[in-house]
Order: sequence, then C-alpha cells, then structure tokens
Amino acid sequence: MAPRLPSAVDYRRLLADGGLLAGDIEAASLTRIGGNFRLAGPVSARLGLRRDEHSRVLVEGEFTATLEARCQRCLEWMPLELRGRLALVLGDPDNEMPVLDDDEDLVEVSGGKLALWGLIEDELLLACPMIPRHPAQDCAGREEAQTAAEDAHYKPFAGLGAMLDQQRDEDH
Ligand SMILES: [Zn+2]
Repeated sequence: MAPRLPSAVDYRRLLADGGLLAGDIEAASLTRIGGNFRLAGPVSARLGLRRDEHSRVLVEGEFTATLEARCQRCLEWMPLELRGRLALVLGDPDNEMPVLDDDEDLVEVSGGKLALWGLIEDELLLACPMIPRHPAQDCAGREEAQTAAEDAHYKPFAGLGAMLDQQRDEDH
C-alpha cells in the first residue's frame, strides 16, 4: 500500500528535501466530494515542488481517483475514473507574492504550510464532469434520451426550400 499523503507540508523543508512527494489520501478525508459524486477508494497523488528561473516555487503533480457518479439521465450510479494534472504557483503571504501569467493559478500557503489534501480535493472537484452520464448505449434512460435528442435535432436547411421559393416569387 502506498504511504499516506500528509494533510499539509512545510514547503521549504520539502524543497530542501528534493521536492518530491507521493502517497494516498483516504476517501473519508475528502469531505467536499459529494452530491452526484462519491469516492470509491483512496486518491493517489504525486507532487513535485521546484523553483523556476524567476525564483518562484512551482507545485506540479498528478492524481488518480476512482469515484462513482450518478448518471444524470437514468440516475443510476456508475464507476468513474478520474486522473488529472496540476500546475500552480505557490504564494507565501509571508514573502513577496509571485507575479503570475494570465494562464497561471496561485496556491497560497499559510504559515509556510502547503495544504495538500485541500489542493488535491480542489483539483479533483474541477476534474469532475459537469453532467455525468453513461455513454448513450449503456444508459437505462437511453430511450427517453434518444427521443429528446431527435426532438432537439437541429435542421439548418429545413427552412431553406421555403425561403428560396419565396424569393423566386418575389423575383417575378
Ligand atoms: Zn444512465
């Protein structure tokens, strides 16, 4: 079994120790995953801290998690594998805050501690699909779904024939 990932680390000490950390977070520790999602096991994460050329501290990593999600078409629970990557710039309010590019996000530390569980849970919530659904062919709600899809089918040229006829009439 993988070691447990600590809930928070002293980021300076971690940097001095090489910056790498890997481990699991127990499902019970991540209480913000709820609603249409539930964790089916621990979340595995690997993280790396390093300084970039501007002396900023970068937090990079990846995670994998096995969840269950409630299909929004048939309301049955289904397995959902999530994996994701993260790349953030660490901001320490006790020091000068880093300058960010438009596409960069900040993770703030408090008292020199980087909250690992909170960080991974944030990323996991972001990785959850907005509307979880079975693939159409596997979903018990598929018949309703197909009918709805047909009703909503957009026919961009449906009115074109009538429009042309009308135009032709106007031309004469
Ligand atoms: Zn379904």
